[in-house]
Order: sequence, then C-alpha cells, then structure tokens
Amino acid sequence: MKAFFEDGPSSEACRQIVDLPVIAAPEEEVELGAREARILLECWQARCGAIVTVRAADGRFYRARVTALSAEGVRLVVFAALPFAPESPLFLEVFQALPQRERFELVLEKLVELGVMRIASFVSTHSITLEERDARQRKSHRWPDVVLRAARQCRRALVPELVPVLSWKDALAQMNLNPAFDIVLCETEKSLRLSAVLEIPAPPRVRLWVGPEGGFSPEEVAVFKASGACCVSLGGRILRTETAAIAAAAVIQHRWGDFG
Ligand code: SAM
Repeated sequence: MKAFFEDGPSSEACRQIVDLPVIAAPEEEVELGAREARILLECWQARCGAIVTVRAADGRFYRARVTALSAEGVRLVVFAALPFAPESPLFLEVFQALPQRERFELVLEKLVELGVMRIASFVSTHSITLEERDARQRKSHRWPDVVLRAARQCRRALVPELVPVLSWKDALAQMNLNPAFDIVLCETEKSLRLSAVLEIPAPPRVRLWVGPEGGFSPEEVAVFKASGACCVSLGGRILRTETAAIAAAAVIQHRWGDFG
C-alpha cells in the first residue's frame, strides 16, 4: 500500500521557517517571495486570512496574517510578538513502533506540541504492519492532517516532518543516514535510567525509540545496543506506548530543549 505521505510536501520545505528580511512594526505589511509562498502554500496549506508564525530579522518570532498569497509571493501583516521562540534548539525526533490501538494520532498531536521536529513510525517484531492497521482502522491517512492541525494550534513556526511508515531495516538505517544520540525506551533494562543519560550536555540531535504494546524483542534490543544506542528504563511502572513516547519526549525536551 502506498504510504500516505509520499506525495505530501517535501519534508525540507516543511521544516523551513518563514523569515522576514526586516523587523516589521505592528500592522506593517511585508511582501515576501516565492520561497516563503511555497512554504505557506505547501506545508501550511495556508490561504488568505490565515494566521502564521514567522521569524523576523531580529530572530524573534511573530504572529502574522496572510493578506495575499500566490505561487509568486505573499504579503503578511505582522501583529504580535511571541514571548518565547516556538521552536526548540534541540532537534528531537521520535521513532514509534506502530501501535495496535488507534493511539498514534494522540502521540502525533502531543509530540508536535512538545516541539518534536520529526516523527516516524516503524514496524517491529511485536508491532503490526501498516496494512494490518489499515485493515482495522482506516485512519492513518489522517496523520499528516493531525500533524498540521497540531502545528497550527500550538503556533509552531514549522511543520514537523512525518516520515512514511518504515520497515525495521529502514528504521535502523536512519542511524547512519541521520546520526543522532539514540535513546531506546526499554522496559526490560535493569540498570540504566533515562535520568542518568540526561546528565550529559545536550546533544544537537536526539532520536527517541519507543516500542509497541508488546515491547521490543530481545533481538531488537541487542541490535540497538550493538548500534551504540542507549537502552534506558523509565522506572518501575510499565507505561502504555503512547504514554512512554509523550512522557519521555517531554522530559528530554525539558532537560535538553526548551520545555518549561
Ligand atoms: N512488553 C511490555 C510488558 O507488557 O511488560 C509492555 C511494553 S510497553 C506497553 C510499550 C513500550 O513503552 C515499551 O516497548 C517501551 O518502549 C516503553 N516503556 C513502557 N514502560 C517503560 C519503562 N518502565 N521503561 C522503559 N520503557 C518503557
């Protein structure tokens, strides 16, 4: 089955922020070119009247209203400064094994709100495949829209990338393609705690791996460890997969990013 994301906007474009070449005064109209228009049209599916978050030449973020938009350019009226940047300095991505129950939409929405930059789902030994999932709950086609709505609602300056569902092999390949500090949530881990790992200085890029309802298999944990990933425990309680993803992303964002 064709992944629902392959013909979506290019991920690079989505992760770009609309930059103003000036520091606009409130209610001042600013005219921008085709690059910014493309980001607004492709990634935000914006129309005239849309309210978006833009970055001004002073590096601060502002809310702006789209007053004209075409493939050639866009006009915006800046009307309010955001007190804090909506994007974290930490590039946090979450790789979640496909959950059985219809919980991935909740995970997507909360991870976007938590400032995660990139979200991927993957098939693991104890997860289900996308086909099995779509045979039971035809909702994965809604995932891009869930991400976009959440990004709009929490006033993100960019739309996080939603990676098409990955095979186990392709998910692992990401470790070489996009090197990051890999943290694997592993309920069978007996000594290393997430809190201990968070003692080190913030890495530039962190990838959080979360298992399915049935957990990671011993073979998968061995592969993670052989690949240099940190397999960590969250403590003595067994969390639902969606709870683990959201809670761990929040803790990591708090310790190394901008949350709270
Ligand atoms: N197989 C587990 C069991 O029933 O004992 C359940 C797996 S748990 C529901 C789903 C995923 O959440 C796990 O694969 C892991 O990634 C994460 N997780 C849940 N509780 C955790 C904990 N205490 N420490 C680390 N990871 C945890």
